[in-house]
Amino acid sequence: MEKIPVGISSCLLGERVRFDGGHKYDRFINRRLADFFDFRPFCPEVAIGLGIPREPIRLVTTATGLRVQGVKNTALDVTERLVACGGQAARDMDALCGYIFKARSPSCGMARVKTWHESGLPGRSDGIGAYAQAVMRARPNLPCEEEGRLNDPDLRDNFIERVFTRYRWTRLLARGITPAQLVEFHSRHKLTVMAHNQAAYRRLGRLVATAGGKGFGELCDRYETELMTALKRQATRKSHGNVLQHLQGYFSRQLTADDRAELGGLIDRYRLGLVPLAAPLTLIRHHLRHYPNDWALRQTYLDPYPPELLPG
Ligand code: SF4
Repeated sequence: MEKIPVGISSCLLGERVRFDGGHKYDRFINRRLADFFDFRPFCPEVAIGLGIPREPIRLVTTATGLRVQGVKNTALDVTERLVACGGQAARDMDALCGYIFKARSPSCGMARVKTWHESGLPGRSDGIGAYAQAVMRARPNLPCEEEGRLNDPDLRDNFIERVFTRYRWTRLLARGITPAQLVEFHSRHKLTVMAHNQAAYRRLGRLVATAGGKGFGELCDRYETELMTALKRQATRKSHGNVLQHLQGYFSRQLTADDRAELGGLIDRYRLGLVPLAAPLTLIRHHLRHYPNDWALRQTYLDPYPPELLPG
């Protein structure tokens, strides 16, 4: 399988681009994700010409809003340059299926970046890096995450699932999507969407039902936005439990009473947080091998991404 193009803050790959000439090499990104992702590194502070090493910058709350200013030299203000850099970079991101930002950076942080008052006193930790904000505004459907949050198994799973979903979608678009292919794509992703957002599942179904009419390109744009927005919402144990039960219905009648009780018990234990999702899913895959159902077996929900990237 070809690697998936994903943008990343350069310092996370170990590139010495930080203000002090250092880096922020991230082990999980470089040891695990790099086997599947084709990382496209970018450092906005270097790109706007600040140099290495450079004056450190930070987010400052001013009368005109948040500004990115020098820590020692407060006359240095690079807000507009970083915003323009983000807008320009985003224009070249058609091929990207995700972006991993460096947390807490006044340029790259996605959220909860420390801010300062003009007096020099610390403020709230609710800022957004100027470059990251410009990218996210220009590319709202691009899966984005910070490296620190990838240590959380649920957040990691959510990000990787979104990247792989976007990859399958962009490949379809690149080949020239037809209404029939949209229907097939949607059919394969039904349970995935159902696990994240029931309302979006119904909206997407209604949208796809009109795929044969005029304005197919616009319909695909709406589908992409609705799909990527739906997947942003974290799937819960309750919603996964409902999907697992739904899947069970495709072969339940063929199971012995003992097998049915075993799977039902495993789904209950997953709901209670006693076993990981992989436990009932593995048993469901096993039963589907013995009692195949074409529709269920095509579901991306069963294999959202390579097992090597599963949490654990
Ligand atoms: S956080 Fe962003 S701006 Fe800072 S060194 Fe890393 S890539 Fe460059």
